[in-house]
Amino acid sequence: MQQAKFLINGVSRTSKMTADVINPATEEVFAKCHISNKDDVNDAVSAARNAFPFWSTLSNDERKSRLMELASSLEENMPELMGLVTKESGKPLGGLNGIGSGMEVGGSIAWTQATASFELPVEVIQDNEEARIEIHRKPLGVVASITPWNWPLMIAVWHIIPALHTGNTVVVKPSPYTPVATSRFVELANRVLPKGVLNLVHGDTEVGSLLSTHEDVSKIIFTGSTPTGKKIMQASAVNLKRLTLELGGNDAGIVLPDSNVTELAPKIFGASFHNNGQTCAALKRLYVHESQYDEMCNALADLAKNVKVGNGLEEGVELGPLQNARQLQIVKSLVDSARENGGKILAGGNEGNGAGYFYEPTIIADQSDGDRIVDEEQFGPALPVIKYSDLDEVIARANANENGLGGSVWSSDLEAASKVALQLECGSAWINDHGAVQPDAPFGGIKQSGFGVEFGLHGLKEYTSIQTLKICK
Ligand code: NAD
Repeated sequence: MQQAKFLINGVSRTSKMTADVINPATEEVFAKCHISNKDDVNDAVSAARNAFPFWSTLSNDERKSRLMELASSLEENMPELMGLVTKESGKPLGGLNGIGSGMEVGGSIAWTQATASFELPVEVIQDNEEARIEIHRKPLGVVASITPWNWPLMIAVWHIIPALHTGNTVVVKPSPYTPVATSRFVELANRVLPKGVLNLVHGDTEVGSLLSTHEDVSKIIFTGSTPTGKKIMQASAVNLKRLTLELGGNDAGIVLPDSNVTELAPKIFGASFHNNGQTCAALKRLYVHESQYDEMCNALADLAKNVKVGNGLEEGVELGPLQNARQLQIVKSLVDSARENGGKILAGGNEGNGAGYFYEPTIIADQSDGDRIVDEEQFGPALPVIKYSDLDEVIARANANENGLGGSVWSSDLEAASKVALQLECGSAWINDHGAVQPDAPFGGIKQSGFGVEFGLHGLKEYTSIQTLKICK
């Protein structure tokens, strides 16, 4: 059986305490995850601390060349990594609109290469006969990365590569639901990185809180739920850790009147249902003008009924299972509550038969703000389609949510759509798209979706502190 060991100071470690890793498509245990204890966490942080002086003083180009080597190693091992991601997360190899584990591993490679190529040069803000003032960007020290289960490898790469590139050392803790691909990634990375630069520990709440309370950890980069983000923020006060918190979302999409429903429906369906809706910035509430409401509902229901659901290792499967039994129960409870509240289930609405955490792709009409399926993050394959009549009112409804991750506006009138998009309270707004990210464009949430951004130069800066150097002449 596959073993997800942890790795400290370049050496892999096992534990007597293990947890089962379940393939969500079959409910079979396919790997054992070795759980770290307090001593392991302390050792991992010490290893990272000891590696910091050497790693942080390498040149940008030296660090870049190691990271480029890592990207090549990921490329060489792509089929294996794809298989691990599919087995642990349930995500299909190909997936709806090509969004599957191939994209997760391919994206991890692309992000590594792009991020390694960024530079944060010294800024000179004054240089005259009086003085020269330079702004230097310095690494923070040990960064702890805590990741969720929905995009396990990609999110680990999003955390780790910018931290390493700016000269920090890292301890990563993946979700215990999906520790396998990250373990393999860290193993491959340790073949090209000096020992101690990237360490891995395994576990859940306890190991996470050991990291967030640790005095020698300078920053936490966390992607996960809002309640956990709040706990990490409290725990981090112990030594005033820097934080980037990428938390939950309940993204609204607004379809403006006179839209081309035939053209937009497949794009909207993909934006909402890829990875079974288990994406932080998936479209989770769709507002459609009353003039096109029925047409859009029918088009989406048709797509939901025809999408291919199954074991992601099989060819042609577009949507896999939910990643875990708890998430399946959340989706089930929200759809059941919509049904009880007079919601009309136009497609889906049932659990799958047999093994696996499957739930039918579900389209729900006749629900509105105040109903649970609209107000709460479903993080699954169930989209509420909500009717509106007035544009100002719908913008207010889209914003009347504690989350502020992403939002979208759908229309062929790009000017009108931009005006609406700029009024949405969210960190990223898209027009005729939703959830698309790229390595050079900043991405992050506002309100209770967290703070700080990832990606591009803005994201890179979050792993540094400023030192201002004034040279008096
Ligand atoms: P979660 O908060 O339950 O767990 C995330 C990670 O935190 C896991 O590794 C877990 O072991 C760890 N953890 C749990 N308790 C901890 C504690 N007290 N201290 C430190 N670490 C702790 O989230 P999840 O269920 O794995 O992920 C789903 C959630 O993540 C959804 O709400 C989703 O919207 C959000 N998410 C957000 C983004 C984003 O970029 N904003 C991306 C993906 C997922």
